[in-house]
Amino acid sequence: MTRTVYVNGEYLPETEAKVSIFDRGFLMADAVYEVTSVLDGKLIDFEGHAVRLKRSLDELDMSEPCTKEELLEIHRKLVELNGIDEGLVYLQVSRGSDGDRDFVFPSADTPPTLVLFTQNKPGLADNPAARKGAKIISIEDIRWGRRDIKTVQLLYPSMGKMMAKKAGCDDAWLVEDGFVTEGTSNNAYFVKAGKIVTRPLSNNILHGITRKAVMRLAKEAQMEVEERLFTIDEAKAADEAFTTSASAFVMPVVEIDGVALGDGTPGPIARRLREIYLDEARKTAI
Ligand code: PMP
Repeated sequence: MTRTVYVNGEYLPETEAKVSIFDRGFLMADAVYEVTSVLDGKLIDFEGHAVRLKRSLDELDMSEPCTKEELLEIHRKLVELNGIDEGLVYLQVSRGSDGDRDFVFPSADTPPTLVLFTQNKPGLADNPAARKGAKIISIEDIRWGRRDIKTVQLLYPSMGKMMAKKAGCDDAWLVEDGFVTEGTSNNAYFVKAGKIVTRPLSNNILHGITRKAVMRLAKEAQMEVEERLFTIDEAKAADEAFTTSASAFVMPVVEIDGVALGDGTPGPIARRLREIYLDEARKTAI
């Protein structure tokens, strides 16, 4: 089925959607994005994604392409037009194009480019990968220093996923100055003696929308949560580990650098948090 996508005010078949070759998203990775999950045809934590998008735009002096209400309307219309029950809505805003290539930003009145499309993912919630758990490798974190801004500079995360794939694994955790920052496209946690440990927020990691929800839900469920720096060796010695992201929710981790965690199957805390999160997400979806 040909998808209907959104580009700068128009809903079009994906084969007819066009963006300038001079667009700064294309030439300079001068663009930010958000990915919002859809369950039961409804959006999960739209508000959180809209707030983070605004923050990313502000940090980069990029103008807002439209209001939050208009964004919600576009999300909903795409979900409806494409008949998405479970899946994702991808949104990207770039600094637009002034018809040439230049390192200097175009004038402030250059309109941003707004693109949205859906990805149909039946079985997103009841994902067999989550029942199996993920195998992780650790690699050096050589990304730039503003990982709190959700830019489309995803080459190194893509390379990290390829390194994992080549090693027969599912994903990579990134390590900087001896401490785990996050996963290639998720936030990272381990559990030891019932306590959940994750790195505190800073410019070094993305402020995950799922992280925020899961930390709140864990505390509400009387689980102990500690935000501190941790090493890959601590994670390898953990009882269990997991990652969070809008597209994979809570994903158990069963192996790090070839070392099995616990009995090598998804741990009880990760499984419970996935359940609680999905439950809450469905209840609060809009
Ligand atoms: N860290 C990175 C580097 C990511 O790419 C993502 C996913 N976008 C996350 C963390 C998780 O963030 P969220 O829960 O908002 O999807």
